[in-house]
Amino acid sequence: MIRVLDANTIDKIAAGEVIERPSSVVKELVENSIDSGATAITVEIKEGGISFIRITDNGIGIPKDEVPTAFLRHATSKLITAEDLLSISSLGFRGEALSSISAVSQVEMITKTPDSITGTHYQIHGGKEIENSQIGCPTGTTIIVRNLFYNTPARKKYMKSASTETSYIYDLVCKLSMSHTNISFKLIINATEKIFTSGNGKLKDIIYHIYGKDITNNLIELNIKNDYLNIHGFIAKPCISRGNRTFEDYFVNSRYIKSKIVTKAIEDAYRTFVMVHKFPFTVLNFDIKPELIDVNIHPSKMELKFVNEQEIYDFTYNSVREALLFKELIPCVSPQKSKAAANPIKRDIGKNPEPFETNRRNNQIVREESNYNIKNDEAIKPTINNTIASETKPDIQNKPDIQIKPDIQNKPDIQNKPDIHNSVITEKYIQESLFSDQFLSEKARIKHKLIGQLFDTYWLIEYEDKLFIMDQHAAHEKVKFEELMTNYKTKKPVSQYLMPPAVITLSAAEADYLKYNIDMFLDIGYEVEAFGDNEYKLNAVPANLFGIDGRDLFLDFIGELAGISQKTAIDVFISKLSTMACKAAIKGNTSISYEEADALLDSLMSLENPYTCPHGRPTIISMTKAEIEKKFKRIV
Ligand code: ADP
Ligand code: MG
Repeated sequence: MIRVLDANTIDKIAAGEVIERPSSVVKELVENSIDSGATAITVEIKEGGISFIRITDNGIGIPKDEVPTAFLRHATSKLITAEDLLSISSLGFRGEALSSISAVSQVEMITKTPDSITGTHYQIHGGKEIENSQIGCPTGTTIIVRNLFYNTPARKKYMKSASTETSYIYDLVCKLSMSHTNISFKLIINATEKIFTSGNGKLKDIIYHIYGKDITNNLIELNIKNDYLNIHGFIAKPCISRGNRTFEDYFVNSRYIKSKIVTKAIEDAYRTFVMVHKFPFTVLNFDIKPELIDVNIHPSKMELKFVNEQEIYDFTYNSVREALLFKELIPCVSPQKSKAAANPIKRDIGKNPEPFETNRRNNQIVREESNYNIKNDEAIKPTINNTIASETKPDIQNKPDIQIKPDIQNKPDIQNKPDIHNSVITEKYIQESLFSDQFLSEKARIKHKLIGQLFDTYWLIEYEDKLFIMDQHAAHEKVKFEELMTNYKTKKPVSQYLMPPAVITLSAAEADYLKYNIDMFLDIGYEVEAFGDNEYKLNAVPANLFGIDGRDLFLDFIGELAGISQKTAIDVFISKLSTMACKAAIKGNTSISYEEADALLDSLMSLENPYTCPHGRPTIISMTKAEIEKKFKRIV
């Protein structure tokens, strides 16, 4: 039953001007369709939605006598009192959308409930009822919104080009379909079908449909529960990371929202797996008891509050981190797209090239970044120790590239009626087992065939039906970094004595730094003692520096550390360890022996996360036999 909320309840709802642009109309209307129990929803737009939006659903419809009420301000069937807000499970509840939309456009609604024979044909232009009549129609609701902001030219001015508005809507329907996998979504843009999901409940199918094969082949599934929270969905191997947050999606109780806590937990978990300034690909659903979140947020801000933030952080961080650690993270490279790692992944959605950016597969995004920034503020205090280099922290204030495409040429209006669709899509593709035996495991190790060195930098290893390529520098850097970290943590360093000891002269700042932080140096394997004035005697350096001069390395190391504040000393010290590891590691363009390469593989195998260097670059990549055979056209 749709009724107007009482003044008290209205006061408690974070009020918002919900309609800013065509995509906000689509969002509100599709959310209404979802709330109505629809299993199939078609969105059709023309001219970026500015001139025409049609949403059709097969939900429960609106009873005849309630249609005019639905268009009143604060009229809703989803909430009666303010207390209901605590347990709300519908997406809408403010009762503002239909009234706001109909105030600034020309709306036509056709709706029928299952138990009535005829439906209602209702038209309302600029808030004025134009028509209210009976009509024969199927159960469900169709709403057409024409000429948005026709009566408010000032707001119309804020519209972007049709292509940009189109891309916002495309993006939105992607998110809606990923967060509601049991609903079949169809998006038609200028009479061309762009998205069509089956509603079969399989998120991976939708990811494939939207992002294509490259991403789908590199997914890791997640499904972890505790008493009040279930996180399920997919994250991608670190090789899929992007230069901005476009690919970092998550949903809380099927709402697309932003949460500093969740974003931070995800990004922290990926730290050292992805390069600096890179962001992961995720599509994660958080199912949480409604009473543990506050949905009463400003509608356009999308920022959600949790009651128990620290627990959400911990659970999210641990779930993602564990998933990353336990999966084989060697990126699958496909030889056809040798630049795949550096370039945005692009696939055509439809047959016809379209003038708008299909931004989900593209690194360049057309929409503006949603207005949230994460500062390392006091409010978010992870209990998980950040043992990780602070220089590897992604710059989370990084702004995405913004690219605006020229306006699309409007195609002539085609009045094809949308059908409620029910066909089934793509089952054809997904290999079920994306991960074979771990490449770096005892079992696999004995079967490795070390072929040789390439370009004095890479090692080729054959294993089963794959060719693995190890970057000797990245691999050794990782081993070195982990060694130094282990020394540091266990305080049982492995040192190498210098014969004779090296005498070094330090600057005042360097000497000062050493004096206050001597323990940290001892912990990683240095042995150093004062030798009068600013002279020091270096007796030992960390072991296995691969021919690097231990004295020079020490001077480099302390030179970088000197002058930093004492308070952050440990953090910076650890962050500099990765620089040190980099310097201490065998370089590319260096010939090393089979035995050394073999030993390097052994050392890698002993690490928790051997597949990325401390800066997040891969240490090993792979290519399948089938891909090589394809290149030689042995198979097609
Ligand atoms: P809210 O969604 O916050 O309740 P709206 O203004 O979006 O407010 O919608 C008002 C009411 O109209 C809803 O509460 C619902 O009862 C009804 N309604 C709107 N769209 C639909 C739809 N597609 N199918 C069934 N009922 C709908
Ligand atoms: Mg609504």
